[in-house]
Amino acid sequence: MIERIVGTAPQADDVVEQELEVKLRPHDFANYIGQDRLKKNLQLAIQAAQKRGEALDHVLLYGPPGLGKTTMASVIANEMSAQIRITSGPAIERAGDLASLLTNLQDGDILFIDEIHRLHRTVEEVLYSAMEDYKLDIMLGKGPSARSLRLDLPQFTLIGATTRTGALAAPLRDRFGHVHRLEFYTPEQIAQIITRAAGILNVTIDAKAAAKLAERSRLTPRIANRLLKRVRDYADVHSDGIIDTAISIKALELLEVDELGLDPADRMLLTAIIDSYNGGPVGVETLAALTAEERSTIEDFIEPYLMQVGLLERTPRGRKVTHKAYRHLGKQPTLDSSQSSLL
Ligand code: ADP
Repeated sequence: MIERIVGTAPQADDVVEQELEVKLRPHDFANYIGQDRLKKNLQLAIQAAQKRGEALDHVLLYGPPGLGKTTMASVIANEMSAQIRITSGPAIERAGDLASLLTNLQDGDILFIDEIHRLHRTVEEVLYSAMEDYKLDIMLGKGPSARSLRLDLPQFTLIGATTRTGALAAPLRDRFGHVHRLEFYTPEQIAQIITRAAGILNVTIDAKAAAKLAERSRLTPRIANRLLKRVRDYADVHSDGIIDTAISIKALELLEVDELGLDPADRMLLTAIIDSYNGGPVGVETLAALTAEERSTIEDFIEPYLMQVGLLERTPRGRKVTHKAYRHLGKQPTLDSSQSSLL
C-alpha cells in the first residue's frame, strides 16, 4: 500500500525520526492539548487512586488512529509516576507471552495494549481474571494429567486502545472501569498542537500559516505533525526556513493535500461514487474495490474523517456522498442525489 501523507497510521518516517517523535509527544496533562473531558475524568480518577494508594482502574481508549491514545497512556503513566510497558494485540501470540508480560510487572505498573481488539481469543481469556482479581490461571501439562495453577499478580493497570469498540468481546469491554472515546480535535486545537511542535522543532511559523496547516490536517495530531515536518523541509529548501502562509500553501499544493485535507486517493474515492454510482448509496465492499484498500482500512482510517467533515454519510443502504462533497469537487448533483436532505 502506498504511504499517504494524510494517512493516519504511523509511517516509516514517524518511526525513523523516533527521537523527534519522543520529543513531540506531550508527557503530561498540561501539554496534552484538547480532549478536555477525557483529561478531567482521568485526572480525577488518578487523584482518587493515588489517595487510596491503589492502582488506577483499567482504562479503554477508543477512536480513530492518530488522535493520541498511545500518547495519553504515557501521560497517565507519567502522572502516576508509574512504569509503562507498551505492546499490541497482534504481538501477543500465545497465552504464555501474556503470562510472562504480566508476571514481570510490578505494583502500580501500566500495561498498554494497542489494537486490543486484535488479541487472540485464548490470550484474551487469560486477561479476564488478571484484570478482575489480579490472578493468573495457567495450565500445566496436557491431557488427563493437566492441572491448573493460580498465580498472584501485581496490582497493575491495563490501558487498552482500539479503533473499534464494536470488535471487542463484551466480557473484555466490561472489565474496563474507564471507557473513553477520543474525539477529533477542533482546527484551533490542531493549530495549537502545530505551534507547540514548531517550538520543539525550532521552526518559526506564523499564526496564519499554523491555521492553514491545521485546516488540512484532518483534525488529527499525527497528520498535523507530519505536515509540519514536510512544510518545514519545503521552507528550508525554498526560503529562509520561516513558514508563512504562502510557503505552507505552496508546500501543501506540492503534497497534493487540499483545503479539507483530502489527498488524491480521497478525491478519487468520492469522484468514483459520484460518477459511477450517482452519489451512492454504495456498500463498503464496493468502496474497498474502488480504492483497492482493505475494508477495515476504509472503516477505520478513511471514512471516519470524511464523515466528520460531512462529505460522506452512512445510511442503512450504504455510504452516500453529500452535497458538500459535490461542491468540494466542483460537480453538479443529479436530480436523484439532490433530493438528499443533506444540503
Ligand atoms: P494513537 O495512539 O491514537 O494512534 P498517538 O498517541 O500515537 O495516536 O499520537 C500521534 C502523535 O500525535 C503523537 O506522536 C503525538 O506527538 C501527537 N499528539 C497526539 N495527541 C496529542 C495532543 N493531545 N497534543 C499534542 N500532540 C499530540
